[in-house]
Amino acid sequence: MTPSSRILVVGGGSVGMYAALRLQRRLRRELKQGRVGITIADLDSYMTYQPFLPEAAAGNLEPRHVVVSLRRVLPRCRILGGRICDIDLAGKSARFAPMEGPERVLDYDYLIFCPGSITKTLPIPGLAEYGIGFKTVEEATHLRNHILGKLDTAASTDDPEVRARALTFVFVGGGYAGVEALAELEDMTADACRYFHGISRDSMRWVLVEASDHILPEVGPELGTWTTDELRRRGIDVRLDTRVKAIEHDVVVLDDGESIPCETLVWTAGVTANPLVRHLPTGDRGRVATSAELLVDGTDFAFAAGDCAAVPDLTRPGEYCPPNAQHAVRQSRRLADNLIATMRGRRRTPYRHKNVGSVASLGLHKGVANVYGLQVRGFPAWFMHRTYHLTRMPTFNRKARILMDWTLALFFKREVVALGALARPREEFEFASRSQEETANARR
Ligand SMILES: Cc1cc2nc3c(=O)[nH]c(=O)nc-3n(C[C@H](O)[C@H](O)[C@H](O)COP(=O)(O)OP(=O)(O)OC[C@H]3O[C@@H](n4cnc5c(N)ncnc54)[C@H](O)[C@@H]3O)c2cc1C
Repeated sequence: MTPSSRILVVGGGSVGMYAALRLQRRLRRELKQGRVGITIADLDSYMTYQPFLPEAAAGNLEPRHVVVSLRRVLPRCRILGGRICDIDLAGKSARFAPMEGPERVLDYDYLIFCPGSITKTLPIPGLAEYGIGFKTVEEATHLRNHILGKLDTAASTDDPEVRARALTFVFVGGGYAGVEALAELEDMTADACRYFHGISRDSMRWVLVEASDHILPEVGPELGTWTTDELRRRGIDVRLDTRVKAIEHDVVVLDDGESIPCETLVWTAGVTANPLVRHLPTGDRGRVATSAELLVDGTDFAFAAGDCAAVPDLTRPGEYCPPNAQHAVRQSRRLADNLIATMRGRRRTPYRHKNVGSVASLGLHKGVANVYGLQVRGFPAWFMHRTYHLTRMPTFNRKARILMDWTLALFFKREVVALGALARPREEFEFASRSQEETANARR
C-alpha cells in the first residue's frame, strides 16, 4: 500500500456512508497510523434513510430518527460540508465549494463516486415554481407541516373555493416514492381530520396522476393493480394514462382536459442520475458506466455505485441494476472491499445480487410486498415492510429510536400540529420590531 492513500467519497448517502463505515473498520490500523485518509464531502452532515421518509412525513417517525449523523458514525473520517462542483478524473482531483468561504481543490488517490440521483422533472410550465419533490427529510417534514397547515386553513374559512383548494392534494408519479408518500399522508389526514372542525375524510381530495397504465412497477403487475383498487377504495382518485400539462398558481391542468384547483403538487415522477456524472464516462440511462467490479470505465482508481451508477446486473445478463436502496447498500460493501483489494494489489470481486423484491407501506397497518416471488398484501405486508427496513436502518441508536417511536404510537395519538412557521423563525421578531417602530412614529 502506498503511504498516505487519500480516499475521497463524493456523497455521504446510502453508498457513501456504508462504504466509509466498512473502510473505517477494515482499515482501522492504516487510518490510525495516518497511512490512509478518508474524506467524505456531502451537502449535509447526515445520511438519510429514504425508505422511511413516507413514515416521517406521516408523523409515525420523528424526522431526526430517519437520518444518521456522519460525524458520529465515522469518527476516523474527515467530513466536509459542501458541494463537489466538478471531478477531474485525469488529474485525480475534485473542486469543492464549502458551505462558506472560497472553493478549494481536493486531491485523491482513490475516488468513491456516489452522489445519488435527483428528482426527474419535465419542462412543464409552472412545475419548478409550484411543485415540490419527495426525496429529502426537509421535503418530507415540509410536506407534513404544509398539509396539516392546509387542514388549518380549510377549518378556518367559510369560503367553499378556498376550502376545496386547500383540501386537494395532487401527487404525480406512481412509483414507490409517490405511492407510499401519498398513501401514508392520506392515512395521516384521515386520522387527523377529527380534530379539525367541519373536515371529514370525504371533504379531502387526493389525486394520483400516473402517465403509464399502472402503478408500483416494483411489486409487479398483479400487486400494482391490487394497489390501484385499494387506493380507489379509500377514495383516492388514481388517474392512469394521464399527464400534467401545466401548473398555474393554484390550478393543476391535466392532459385529459380537467383543471384541478389545489395548492399542493408533489412531484415524484422518478429520478435521474446526479448531474455531476457529466464529468465521468456515462452509460445506461445517463448513469456512470462501471464494470461489475464497480470500477468507473477506463480507470483503476475510481469506483461508483448506487443511484448514479449503471452497474451491470450479473443475474440478468445485458441489464443494469435498478436504482434502489437494496442494491446501493450491497454495492457499497462490495465497493469498499474492492477498493481495499486494489490498494493491496489483490483481485477484485464482481458485484452480484439477485433482487429479492420490494415492500411498500400504504399507511398504518396497510402494505404490499413481493418478496422472492411471494405476493403479500395488507397487514402482513406492512409488517414485513417495517421489519425489513428496521433491520436495514444503520446503527443501533437509530433502530432503537425508531422502535420507540412505533411503540409510543401504540399508546398515544398522532401529533397534528402544523409547524410550518419553523421555516420562518424571524417573522415574529420582525413583526415586533415593525409594530413598535410604527407606534413610535405615530407618537411623534
Ligand atoms: C421516498 C423514497 C422512498 C424509497 N423507498 C425505497 C424502498 O422502499 N426500497 C428501496 O430499495 N429503495 C427505496 N428508495 C431508493 C433509495 O433510497 C435510493 O436508491 C438510495 O438511497 C440510493 O443511494 P445513493 O447512495 O446512491 O444515493 P443517496 O442515498 O441519495 O445519497 C447521495 C448523497 O450525495 C449527496 N450529494 C449529492 N450531490 C452532491 C454534491 N454535488 N456534492 C456532495 N454531495 C452530494 C447527497 O446530499 C446525498 O447525501 C426510496 C427513495 C425515496 C426518495
